[in-house]
Amino acid sequence: MDRPTIIRKTAADLRVPPNLADYAATRAAFSWGAVRAELAGLPGGGLNIAHETVERHAQGVCRDRIAFRFLGANTSRDIRYGELSHLTSRFANVLKSLGIAKGERLFLLSGRIPELYIAVLGSFKNGTVVSPLFSAFGPEPIATRVNLGEGAILVTTELLYERKVAKIRDQLPTLRHVLLVGEGGQATNIPGTLDLGTLMTQAADDFAIVPTQAEDLSLLHFTSGTTGTPKGAMHVHGAVATHWATGKYALDLHADDIYWCTADPGWVTGTSYGIIAPLLHGVTSIVDEADFDAERWYRILAEQKVSVWYTAPTAIRMLMKAGAEIARKHSYPDLRFVASVGEPLNPEAVWWGKEVLGLPIHDNWWQTETGGIMIANTPAFDIKPGSMGRPLPGIEAAIVKKDAEDKVSLVETADTEGELALKRGWPSMLRGYLHNEERYRKCFAGPDNEWYLTGDLARRDADGYYWFVGRADDVIKSAGHLIGPFEVESALMEHPAVAEAGVIGKPDEMVGEVVKAFVSLKKGFEASDALRMELLGHARKKLGAAVAPKEIGFLPSLPRTRSGKIMRRLLKARELGLPEGDTSTLENA
Ligand code: ATP
Ligand code: MG
Repeated sequence: MDRPTIIRKTAADLRVPPNLADYAATRAAFSWGAVRAELAGLPGGGLNIAHETVERHAQGVCRDRIAFRFLGANTSRDIRYGELSHLTSRFANVLKSLGIAKGERLFLLSGRIPELYIAVLGSFKNGTVVSPLFSAFGPEPIATRVNLGEGAILVTTELLYERKVAKIRDQLPTLRHVLLVGEGGQATNIPGTLDLGTLMTQAADDFAIVPTQAEDLSLLHFTSGTTGTPKGAMHVHGAVATHWATGKYALDLHADDIYWCTADPGWVTGTSYGIIAPLLHGVTSIVDEADFDAERWYRILAEQKVSVWYTAPTAIRMLMKAGAEIARKHSYPDLRFVASVGEPLNPEAVWWGKEVLGLPIHDNWWQTETGGIMIANTPAFDIKPGSMGRPLPGIEAAIVKKDAEDKVSLVETADTEGELALKRGWPSMLRGYLHNEERYRKCFAGPDNEWYLTGDLARRDADGYYWFVGRADDVIKSAGHLIGPFEVESALMEHPAVAEAGVIGKPDEMVGEVVKAFVSLKKGFEASDALRMELLGHARKKLGAAVAPKEIGFLPSLPRTRSGKIMRRLLKARELGLPEGDTSTLENA
């Protein structure tokens, strides 16, 4: 279906006055210094994420407001800001009593249970650096990360410990303590572990936050591993200024919002926007402990009266695949803003939101390395479906090109492809890749190394909107054309049979590379040669013969990272019979 290229917003689209009403004026007036002044800072000087997110509210009007609502299979547990302060202090006291010093690293391996959230914030209080892992990681990815990060302490569940950690415990030489969360409250006495519940009960519920400065490390986050071996990005307490500003402008958080970030804290979105940003703004967060389930998700949106929803293209595609009828079993009168991050959001998905939820989906762009949202569509913006939006206040973005000597120059002309770069200076920029100084240095270029190079290709249009083209690694060179997989995937997604698409370049003697697409189908469609021909024809009509795929393969589902990104490098390796490389983050590995 051919649709308009722009979704115009009117006052009727805004149920509350947006925090970012006048883009140009807000950008012009913005300074990071002013944001810093909005933060409380530690009473004795310094900056600590736990003070900004928890203590400040626990001592103020938000004390009795629900900070987190944890939804289990059939249970629900609320933790209010005041209680969160006590629980995180208890946890910080536990760390202190175990001799965990400022700057030491705590690893987390658990599902989205309350203890995880308490441990993250309690660690910040103690100045301990947190590194969350996906609970679905196998023993090897766990060992690699804990060893790379020299983990001093691990918090996990009894079940996960027995399944994954016990057998590799002797391969984790830096680990001094393991704290277990027991299934029924108390963990059994496993040698070499301690029961977190018992320690928490014994600990005092007040704690003087260890004085941290803005440049002290807070989080160690591993990248998704979409393009290769995950890198450990190091972040600081000062990043909280970015989370405050982006929570306000990109997610439009207002104090009375019920907010749901579906990301797991194993992925940076789950900490920056699943823990930190919502607490900064004193909102109530829904945390669903269960895995994706379309029926359940719609029910949560409706019953919990979610007003702001932050999710990912992969989840949206799964909802689309499940069909609109399930969505229509409920209504969503409280929902006022839906945003997405992690992968390019196909125009089809933006429109789906409008048709099924009554709201378009607002794409935004950032990376583990940027620590927070950089480019976004916000409530007051007109949306150009397929574009990731415009740089937020405080963020200077550019399209750059490198010459043969790797010197970068800015591309001033509109609609020209190049590498997306960000001017350094935003507070949540990574401060290094763990044990990989050289890789970190390579991220910067230009005079005084002022540009951070993202590794993503994009273009900017005449209105200042940015359009994702593809990762530098994924771009296909065919007969003199540079083809971004996203464009091809989006065209395929417009066909009613296609649920998701992943596109690669296949080496070819004549043209360099030919475009091959892999698709999975929506419910009710079957793979066949006739459908393949139809899809090839559909793509040719949309894209022209030079860009359209020459081959299409059907797969039940595409290989994805645990953060939900299509792993094109795996599609390619499998197609070409090459080694698969690092698959530690592969979902269902
Ligand atoms: P690795 O660096 O290990 O290969 P990764 O880059 O996927 O993994 P993340 O930091 O989780 O790890 O993901 C950031 C990347 O995700 C971005 O560089 C970009 O390629 C992609 N991305 C995120 N948001 C968007 C978006 N809105 N549109 C297009 N791409 C996006
Ligand atoms: Mg990356």
